[in-house]
Amino acid sequence: KFNTDLGQHILKNPLVAQGIVDKAGIKPSDIVLEVGPGTGNLTVRILEQARKVVAVEMDPRMAAELTKRVHGTPQQKKLEILLGDFMKTELPYFDVCISNTPYQISSPLVFKLLNQPRPPRVSILMFQREFALRLLARPGDSLYCRLSANVQMWANVTHIMKVGKNNFRPPPKVESSVVRIEVKIPRPNIDFHEWDGLLRICFVRKNKTIAAGFKSNNVIEILEKNYKTFLATQNASADGDTIMVDDKADMTDIVKAKIEQVLTETEFSDKRSSKLDQTDFLKLLYAFHQVGIHFA
Ligand code: SAM
Repeated sequence: KFNTDLGQHILKNPLVAQGIVDKAGIKPSDIVLEVGPGTGNLTVRILEQARKVVAVEMDPRMAAELTKRVHGTPQQKKLEILLGDFMKTELPYFDVCISNTPYQISSPLVFKLLNQPRPPRVSILMFQREFALRLLARPGDSLYCRLSANVQMWANVTHIMKVGKNNFRPPPKVESSVVRIEVKIPRPNIDFHEWDGLLRICFVRKNKTIAAGFKSNNVIEILEKNYKTFLATQNASADGDTIMVDDKADMTDIVKAKIEQVLTETEFSDKRSSKLDQTDFLKLLYAFHQVGIHFA
């Protein structure tokens, strides 16, 4: 009956379902987005507290079941179901997000929420335990990774509850956890793609040195391309004297020298990403920008 390829593990414990909804602190004026409502065990509880629920469900059979469940109840007109893949759906405005997430889309889902033009005030999300612990991990923790550093730039993440696999039907293979994600206000004044681009390089091998990450030809090639784009925009905005763009070999050397200069001056060459915090990465990003090296 359930399609586990779509991550269909229905939350059958009513106490857990109610706990998740109550943790969201829904106000009567709130619009709540739910990803993957399934048969609606969370949805009906959210409808009791919110002004409106927008539920994005990919499986038409589930959507039909949910429609039937609220049909003829006072809540019916408060529920809007958008049939389709959450990742491809253009989202309306919403204040709060609640989701017993299809685990296949955990990471893209988080970033889609964080990158909304007006991100939700709070998101209460169920994930696989290990994914949840990665979201929460701090520098030095064994699970600290690019995801941790990236998400924690934009949001504060807290652990809300552990949920054992037997609370689901059918039970998934792994344990789960519910986390709360609250976006930082104001949003840090850095470019998402610049930040993500730097972290991608630094976390390719988080236990190797930062300098090692910047040795890859692939990385140098990308940074060189970005540097040329940067110079071109500089030229476009400067009237009169243009900066000469040297031939290929020279340009690669220039970029390599800039990388070396930044890593030496900031003293991050021999550090390891697994131990660096947000302030460290920000310093690094700032120093690269000072010499015209960009990551996106
Ligand atoms: N919310 C329900 C509950 O707690 O009982 C069901 C949760 S179940 C883990 C995940 C639900 O997400 C399923 O109903 C599945 O069909 C749906 N789903 C899976 N991938 C999806 C996607 N990309 N976009 C929207 N819904 C998706």
